Amino acid sequence: MTWTSPISSSDSVGSPLTGLADRLESVRDGIADAARMAGRDTDGITTIVVTKFQPVSLIEELATLGVRDVGENRHQEAQAKAAELASLNLNWHFVGQIQSKKARQVRSYARVIHSVDRPGLVDSLASDESVVDCFIQVNLTDDPARGGVAAVDLLPLVDRVLGAPGLRLLGLMAVAPVNNGEPESEPRRAFAHVRELSDGIRRNAPEASALSMGMSQDYAAAILEGATHLRIGTAITGKRPEHS
Ligand SMILES: *Cc1c(COP(=O)(O)O)cnc(C)c1O
Repeated sequence: MTWTSPISSSDSVGSPLTGLADRLESVRDGIADAARMAGRDTDGITTIVVTKFQPVSLIEELATLGVRDVGENRHQEAQAKAAELASLNLNWHFVGQIQSKKARQVRSYARVIHSVDRPGLVDSLASDESVVDCFIQVNLTDDPARGGVAAVDLLPLVDRVLGAPGLRLLGLMAVAPVNNGEPESEPRRAFAHVRELSDGIRRNAPEASALSMGMSQDYAAAILEGATHLRIGTAITGKRPEHS
């Protein structure tokens, strides 16, 4: 299967490749600054470049710039890109909602699944053959459509993952809430809440200390609250191509 780029190859002026290296460097600088402010070492922070809707050419360019971790949120697109770019040996992170019937397929190419959010999905992802790293996604809003488990249902879901063969729980993942389309004024408060939830699950899951949080607009706040995995798209890739 070939992932056909939504961008025509003749569209070089203003294409996402223009300035890619500069944007990557400026985000790397921003991460280093925030880590310094937080008194943290950047070695403890993995930056995942979210490449959804972007062409494979952009991912190839990212690889030449030293990027090893890329994130996708739609199964079909992710599967096709991972197959086409298999020779690059990238770490594919799946960050989108997963239908249970697609779970096994996502497992087959994803190195890390960030969006485990319900018991049925845990059961579908379980395997006796191999182990995949995962995060439980927590929903910080009261809109179930946004994905993630409600905080009140978190502990039973943690136990479910711990009891499932083939899943290694790394920690919690969250997206800071947006209000009226605007980023919440204090994403840091939302990330502090995730950190508290993380402290709360450690009695049962002492190893699950990682925190997947922080995107283009709020990664500095996430680093201040202990993020270990940043999921950054447009600040590095530039604007996403239009999609239907
Ligand atoms: C798209 C996406 C990101 C990256 O968002 P940007 O605002 O482009 O940095 C991060 N996490 C998830 C779950 C996403 O879907």
